[in-house]
Amino acid sequence: MKAALWILLSVATLPAQDGKIRVIAFGAHPDDCDIRAAGTATQFAALGHAVKFVAVTNGDAGHQSEGGGALAKRRRAEATESARRLGITYEVLDNHDGELLPSLDVRQQIIRRIRQWNADIVLSPRPNDYHPDHRYTGVLVNDAAYMVVVPNVCPDTPPLRKNPVFLYFEDGFQRPQPFRPDVAVAIDDVFDKKVAALDAHVSQVYEWLPWVDGKLDTVPKDSAERKQWLAATRRRPVSPAVRRTLEKWYGAERAQSIKAAEAFEICEYGRQPAEDEIRKLFPMLK
Ligand SMILES: [Zn+2]
Repeated sequence: MKAALWILLSVATLPAQDGKIRVIAFGAHPDDCDIRAAGTATQFAALGHAVKFVAVTNGDAGHQSEGGGALAKRRRAEATESARRLGITYEVLDNHDGELLPSLDVRQQIIRRIRQWNADIVLSPRPNDYHPDHRYTGVLVNDAAYMVVVPNVCPDTPPLRKNPVFLYFEDGFQRPQPFRPDVAVAIDDVFDKKVAALDAHVSQVYEWLPWVDGKLDTVPKDSAERKQWLAATRRRPVSPAVRRTLEKWYGAERAQSIKAAEAFEICEYGRQPAEDEIRKLFPMLK
């Protein structure tokens, strides 16, 4: 049994049958994947690969004056518009915002989504995030990382014959250990597209998040002005660790000029790719 499983996990051939790399990203809320990976996602899409963002909750708690089904409906429409702008697919699962638990039910929802997408790459938050929904999204994807290849788990959905590579989004949390950037993608050329995707999440980027931060009065009313404001507030300096990773993948000279990047840490539960496989999986790294 053990040997058979080892073979099952080792017969990886990349890219997938039709040459498309298939990426699925899980965020707790309908804007989380966009914040962490929209620039990378739209580069995959532009190269002809398939990307899906999944919000594990419907976002029905994320607003200061709206909520429930009406807010969930609004946020689903925002996610759909973001996906249209990025050239990807977006699915919002109907679990309540602020109440996510690492239950068997939600684990099975995630296992089925990864299998149905026939994923080569799975992205998620790390399981040590400040927000319980983010944290449990990390736990849930970790819990699915091996089960996606086990035929007797969710037998209604055919198992994957190759285990995907699982990676975490970048974060700033230091305990139990800081984020380790294994892969860093330059997003300067698509930064405007990332801002356009975030701009679709009106209820969040112009209403809820500024309200939480006590900065609602700094948001411009005019749609062009507020998009500029959004771009300025979303510019984050590249950390020294991410800069070193950019040097590894793009070369020292090119890396120095990169102003914006998205970084990912390889989770130790999925397939462990060697450097040449990472270059096949992330064809924009050149
Ligand atoms: Zn979130």
